[in-house]
Amino acid sequence: MDGHRNRLSFVMLFVMGIALGAAPVFLNAKVASVNAGEQAALAQRRADDPALAKAYRFERGGWIYVHLEGAPHDMGYQHGYLLAPEISDAFAAVSSEMTYTSKRNWDFFRRAAHTMMWPKIDVDYQSELAGIVDGLRARGYTKLDQDDIVAMNGFMELADYYVPWLDKQTAAVGPTSKPAEEHCSAFVATGSYTKNHQIVMAHNNWTSYNYGARWNIIFDIAPQHGYSMLMDGFPGVIASDDDFGVNSDGLMITETTITDFHGWDPNGKPEFVRARKAMQYAGSIDEYVQIMLDGNNGGYANDWLLADRKTGEIARFELGLLHHRVWRTRDGYYVGSNFASDPAVLKDETTFDPNNMAASANARHARWDELMAANQGKIDTTLAEAFLADHYDTYTKKTGPNRRTLCGHGDMATEGDPMFAKEPYNPAGSVEGKVIDTNMAESMTFVAHTGHPCGTNFKAREFLQAHPEYNWQSNTLIDMDAGPWTQFRAHEHAPSSDTEEN
Ligand SMILES: [Zn+2]
Repeated sequence: MDGHRNRLSFVMLFVMGIALGAAPVFLNAKVASVNAGEQAALAQRRADDPALAKAYRFERGGWIYVHLEGAPHDMGYQHGYLLAPEISDAFAAVSSEMTYTSKRNWDFFRRAAHTMMWPKIDVDYQSELAGIVDGLRARGYTKLDQDDIVAMNGFMELADYYVPWLDKQTAAVGPTSKPAEEHCSAFVATGSYTKNHQIVMAHNNWTSYNYGARWNIIFDIAPQHGYSMLMDGFPGVIASDDDFGVNSDGLMITETTITDFHGWDPNGKPEFVRARKAMQYAGSIDEYVQIMLDGNNGGYANDWLLADRKTGEIARFELGLLHHRVWRTRDGYYVGSNFASDPAVLKDETTFDPNNMAASANARHARWDELMAANQGKIDTTLAEAFLADHYDTYTKKTGPNRRTLCGHGDMATEGDPMFAKEPYNPAGSVEGKVIDTNMAESMTFVAHTGHPCGTNFKAREFLQAHPEYNWQSNTLIDMDAGPWTQFRAHEHAPSSDTEEN
């Protein structure tokens, strides 16, 4: 479907949503609250439908907390039903950005989802994805089908990994697609580095603001099989995908992406499936590695930062397609800022220059090392929150937000950064943050912050007026307001003052 038809179906979804009494969510996802009438209808529907009986949602601190429980199809159905307006809104943002950046139409991604991805997806996750579509339909959102939802679940890997690989295979003239870029700043530390010698882990998610303003779901998942999970996530997507979460066996998980990575195996299992499966079934670092390697397709290649609160061990698991490597310790730290470390991964699977200190990944790496050294023995969740909001640029030696600071602001000038040179003032960077430590992991709790962790609000209209070259996002780019650090716990219900609970 071309951009025009894309917008047309977006408008149709919007009109349909209004007709069904849904809140007008497209202007600002943060005001996606359902009205009182629909809330009553939702409550009645839940009472009547056993598949929805155990599921609920509420909103706090800019986040939407969603509890899913039961068999795979039931959990998908709950997900689709409870987040229907948000999924429909997120789909518009995802489909327009994927088609624009890859120069492919949406039918291309539907075909990739149908023929390449779907046959490789475990049966339980096929059921969950089918359940999302059924939940959307039960809520009156009939435009999105299974191929749309599967392609949307692949949004971190199809446009930025599959398409560049395909372009290379088909010897396309010139680069028609953009290579995998930077996503996220993160660290995990333990032993002599932390205040109480326990594990501290933190992560801020970097994406386009177009995606990031919608990356505001807390998924509390109690599946029929495997461990329970508390993770942040994106509407309609079954993996955390940015990624951050903790499971009920004490595994703490996050990652940052490998910059300028290339490689794809069309016969592999999608990354979003492996990542979800690993969070659900891994009770140790070794099991995590094993699940991610099983059917590795090279998509969304990351440096995984892992911790096991049962053993106190932390690890960095660098996962390319041809090579992978695991570093592990009970006393030390691992940081992530999109740099690869294994010389084989760097040489065979990236075009990244680890020595260019003007590059964001290297500049942030240096900043992480400075912060870890300066705060050895003092690191706790309060410091972790401050690190995620850090604006010191190690290249210019100045303080101020830009694309090279741990709290990333791609829309700000960043002299010398090769990524900024390619996409000046790109509205992308840190879009939310999360922090957890051993004590929190024990009760499946973490704190999370919507928007830039430094507290800066992003205003879409003002940005587009200053940078009309990004007007292609004007249909979907929305304000991204920074919320307060807010605590979430598995299986919690909203206090009665939170209006969404019913
Ligand atoms: Zn910032």
